[in-house]
Amino acid sequence: MKPKDLKNRIVLVKGDITEYPADVIVNAANSSLLGGSGVDGAIHRKGGREITEDCMKIRDSQGKCNVGEAVITRAGNMPFKNVIHTVGPVWQSGKNNETKLFAERLLKKAYISSLELAEKNKLKNISFPNISTGVYRFPKDLAAKTAINAVVEYLEKSDFIEKVNFVCFENENFEIYRKLLEEKGIL
Ligand code: ADP
Repeated sequence: MKPKDLKNRIVLVKGDITEYPADVIVNAANSSLLGGSGVDGAIHRKGGREITEDCMKIRDSQGKCNVGEAVITRAGNMPFKNVIHTVGPVWQSGKNNETKLFAERLLKKAYISSLELAEKNKLKNISFPNISTGVYRFPKDLAAKTAINAVVEYLEKSDFIEKVNFVCFENENFEIYRKLLEEKGIL
């Protein structure tokens, strides 16, 4: 697929993921699925009880959510069909090249698992936060490159998902994404 075609399917947004319209939003959750800080806290606060209930049910049936995997819940009080909760890797301060590659692979897996789950649930318009770039300390440049490459690879393989919104809360991430997407001819 040419970059031109991706232009209509990838959107860069600056702001709060809970405020931007989509069929489904992705939460950068932790393995416990019990809520946390950052975007996880914002989604649980706004979504309310339904999200917590669904997360508890998932924990009862399958246990915790492993890094790179994704689960789906209702969206509670938010105007989305669902929330997909995925767990990104914690950055282990680039100890060596092997751990770096492993972390990149897990971050890619978190994006791909979320896209697969969206498609399985017939959700065509999906928003992502900048997974792992908050308390999980993944380098922002590398995280953005990994996220964009994963999404491009998926969209080139499947035409089911119509829109992927990268919702950047921080200016720094927004500028990194803008530069990378411009370089690829997508913005
Ligand atoms: P992680 O544990 O995966 O690092 P965080 O929630 O700490 O998750 O951070 C992930 C990203 O989400 C960070 O870039 C942070 O700025 C961003 N973020 C925090 N709140 C929101 C929000 N309401 N909407 C979108 N992104 C958010």
